[in-house]
Amino acid sequence: MKPWLASASGTLISAAALCLAALLSMQLPRSVDFGALALPLWLPAGLALAIAMRWGWRSAGGLWLGMAVSNALVLHYAWPAALLIALGQSGAPLLAASMLRRQQALPFYRLSRVLMFLWCGVLGSALLSVVWSGFFLDAGILPAGVERWQCLLARGLGELSGMLALTPSALFLLQAEPTRYSRNPASWLESMLLLWASLLLAVVEFIVADYRHGVAASLWPLFFIALMWVAFRCRLALAYWLHSGIVLLAFGGVLLHNGAAYQDPGLSGMAAAGMLLLVQSLALLVFGALVAERRFTEDWLRRANQTLEGKVVERTRQLAESEARLKLMADASPFPLAMNNLNGGGLIYANAQAESLFKCRLDAQQRRVQDFYVDPAEREGISALLRSQGAVRDHEVQLHDAEGRQFWALVSCAVVHSDQELYVISGINDISERKRLERSLHAANDALRQHVAEIESLQVGLREQVRRDPLTGLFNRRYLDEILPRLLAHMLALDGTVAVMMVDADHFKRINDNYGHQCGDAVLATLGAFLRDRFRSGDIVCRYGGEEFCILMPGIALDAASHKAEQLCAAVRQLPIQALEHRLHITLSIGLSVCPLHGEDPESLIHAADAALYQAKALGRDQVRLASNVQSVLS
Ligand code: GH3
Ligand code: MG
Ligand code: MG
Repeated sequence: MKPWLASASGTLISAAALCLAALLSMQLPRSVDFGALALPLWLPAGLALAIAMRWGWRSAGGLWLGMAVSNALVLHYAWPAALLIALGQSGAPLLAASMLRRQQALPFYRLSRVLMFLWCGVLGSALLSVVWSGFFLDAGILPAGVERWQCLLARGLGELSGMLALTPSALFLLQAEPTRYSRNPASWLESMLLLWASLLLAVVEFIVADYRHGVAASLWPLFFIALMWVAFRCRLALAYWLHSGIVLLAFGGVLLHNGAAYQDPGLSGMAAAGMLLLVQSLALLVFGALVAERRFTEDWLRRANQTLEGKVVERTRQLAESEARLKLMADASPFPLAMNNLNGGGLIYANAQAESLFKCRLDAQQRRVQDFYVDPAEREGISALLRSQGAVRDHEVQLHDAEGRQFWALVSCAVVHSDQELYVISGINDISERKRLERSLHAANDALRQHVAEIESLQVGLREQVRRDPLTGLFNRRYLDEILPRLLAHMLALDGTVAVMMVDADHFKRINDNYGHQCGDAVLATLGAFLRDRFRSGDIVCRYGGEEFCILMPGIALDAASHKAEQLCAAVRQLPIQALEHRLHITLSIGLSVCPLHGEDPESLIHAADAALYQAKALGRDQVRLASNVQSVLS
């Protein structure tokens, strides 16, 4: 349909509806005093407000036309007055609607907006329209004096009643109920039963009941209950339609001169119906809004609760997932991990590694960490450290498993706070193998140290063996060659003397020849022992080779050395030597030289002593001879 055509048809339909409403209003009993000037129920006012609130200023033409035609043709005003008054009758609802329409939605779901509707829409619109009419109904139509004001008041009340009876229902018809408010806890059957039962009751009450029986009037509160029920359980729109139906039935009864609303053929019947209309309308507007607000709040709370519940479920799921992840991580850990209360030591969690280390389920039974310490005092020590420092690193403790096997463990613990409780998370490392290796390493180390000591003592022995003659136990010639230069240097530095005595057994070959080599060896051993005992510890007695001995006497004077040699010679001569089964005697020939008298180097001194020995041999043996240059001095 073309826009202009739609607009024109809208205007005409609105105007026709207004005329129809005016005709209906004219059918009701009216004031004897004011006649058509003040109809008790002016339905066009209610319809005009509903149309203005639905379509706004676009409906201005239709409203003005409808009102003007109604004024002129239904109320029989003069055309100029009808047109002018229609301006107020259409302008007032349009102005009120323009204020109310800012909220877009129907104004019956909030108490504040219901009050706004009553103040601006109903009261404001009626007042404006009546005041406007007051200006243009002057031309001999309105009565003068006080009656003029009474007429205007009655006219205003008629408009007000028309709006309260028709506007909400018409608005619900013209405008779809917003879905967010149309939640309907009642079933379709319950709604229909309520609606038709209430309408039937209204028919009985207002049409059928005899107006002369006041009993019927006592049924009126039932309609309030029914309306509140419908508003609360069913849709609010249905409550308003039911309200309009009841009101129309009440006025219908008045028209038919019967029913609870009709009291006498005069205007009082109309007044009773009007009162019903007023009270019922206001009650429905206020309680309907309260019910809607409450339902809206309940809905909002339910949705909030659902959202909250959803969030709680989601959070619980996330927590469970997180806990499962943590448990997975702890279970997958290659190290034994456990968690327990700091106070009391009760175990809360242990991973698979910890359970296999301790050979038991640790969370299933009422186990405590101290049950696994070999020495309970050690656990007390760790607890004290945890309380003071909050953590313990690499603590070596002795533990045992559920089967009693003891093992060394390296324990690291940390205290964590949660739920007002103190917990301990422990990492346990079985270091039994390491300890065993340490022990065996220590044992090996001790053995090695002992071995080294043995080797050292062997070395000492070997060194001793190297410098000793095996037969006599005296120093050998190698030692003599080693010690003599050092001894000479030392004594020369001290301005001291060193006597060198070369001793040779006389005719030793004969002993070998006569008694055997072994007997000779025994004689040599006895002679060596005798020589060793004969000299001071500072003197060095060596076996020079074969049956020859060399004795170094540091710090001895020549004459003392000579005397000592003579004594030795004499002592050996007297010495009986038991060699094997033979008792033998031997003699010694001795050559003596002294440093620095016969030289300051080993070769000179040995050579001088050897020469003196050779001389003693030559002179008949068993005697002492001094080195040659001294021999002459002494003799
Ligand atoms: P002289 O009075 O001239 O020294 O005569 P001698 O026989 O002692 O001297 P000679 O040099 O002729 O012989 C030394 C002998 O000493 C020869 C050897 O059999 C013997 N002899 C040397 N060393 C040992 C030894 O270790 N054990 C034994 N049993 N005999 C030895
Ligand atoms: Mg010899
Ligand atoms: Mg000899």
